Amino acid sequence: MAAATTTVPVPILEPFISDIFTAAGCAREEGDRIAQFLLSANLTGHDSHGVIRTPRYILWLQEGKVRAGQTLSVVHETPTQAILDGNYGFGQTIGPLAVDYGIAKAKAAGMAAVGLRNAGHIGRIGDWGERAAAAGLISIHFVNVQAGELVAPYGGVDRRFSTNPICIGVPTDQGPIILDFATSLVAEGKVLVASNGGKPVPHGALISPEGELSADPRQLYGEIAGTHVRNSANGAGALRTFGEHKGSGLAFMCELLAGCLTGGGTSGPIPGGKRGRIANGMLSIYLSPGSFGTEGFSQAALDYARYVKASRPASAGTEVLIPGEPENRTREQRRRDGIPLQPDTWAAICATARDLGLTPPAVPVPNS
Ligand code: NAD
Repeated sequence: MAAATTTVPVPILEPFISDIFTAAGCAREEGDRIAQFLLSANLTGHDSHGVIRTPRYILWLQEGKVRAGQTLSVVHETPTQAILDGNYGFGQTIGPLAVDYGIAKAKAAGMAAVGLRNAGHIGRIGDWGERAAAAGLISIHFVNVQAGELVAPYGGVDRRFSTNPICIGVPTDQGPIILDFATSLVAEGKVLVASNGGKPVPHGALISPEGELSADPRQLYGEIAGTHVRNSANGAGALRTFGEHKGSGLAFMCELLAGCLTGGGTSGPIPGGKRGRIANGMLSIYLSPGSFGTEGFSQAALDYARYVKASRPASAGTEVLIPGEPENRTREQRRRDGIPLQPDTWAAICATARDLGLTPPAVPVPNS
């Protein structure tokens, strides 16, 4: 059974997370930005990519695996293409810069393809689809994690892919429609949440080295004790892809597009056998709907979404949702009620804050 949660109001949690990053050496503006995007993941229900990441990000900062205060370098450029290097800056700083680069090109030319490499963890990819949609653009994002292999290919047990998310964002007159998911059966962060006493992952989300299906976070992290920062190098098993050969095929293509085409490299081992620092690669394609000459795209998309939602529910008392609807609903509810965190997650964030000389804010006692 999942442990009781500590619910932290957004106006308390967001400045606290910013304070932690600022105390660790980020400029206040960057601390605010990291906090804002981590909170965005929690607000949309993706706790796997929210403030739970704070201890790990701080550790990476201290180890020099991610750098404060970085900007993009342009490696290659044409009017409709670019390869950008994130210089291992925080993904919450590099991500918006890279997306804005693509938006500017697509606004000028009608479409653009931008490869990003060597970015620190860019978190919830839906944030980037939403950012492009807010500028009136459709966007498609293929992502990998350089040297971050966690996922076994279909039919295998050895790790070969990272969790390789794909996001498609479509702007409409009534807000964006955002599809955003990992190609692993669950995102790694969901195993992290489960390892902290949160919602368990489904059986078969993981596989043992002997090929047995599992739901045990130890397959990824090895022995788990208290609030120490989880290290996926300690587990002998792997995550599995969703949708059998289909998800495995999409994960493979993410490696080719986000890893090989951007030049950032695949999730596989760094030549020479050493695991490098973990960094995201992303190939993003931006399309301006207006430049296709099609009339009424937004209305047609909204009409179709309504038609899909009108499909009779398979079980009584449920409803058919379109991509992005669960996130929109959770965002509304959590803005109002606060962010529920597992006690171990909150304790780990507070321990990180104390190590940096900060006093954590008082929060309500856990709900049972
Ligand atoms: P998920 O399995 O929760 O799937 C989310 C997607 O499915 C969303 O588009 C959502 O709107 C849609 N959805 C959910 N329930 C639905 C329903 N009942 N009906 C219709 N649509 C529904 O997501 P995930 O695979 O666990 O990924 C979580 C997050 O992790 C994502 O934001 C992803 O970008 C992020 N991620 C990031 C990285 C990285 O390296 N930066 C790696 C992996 C995952």
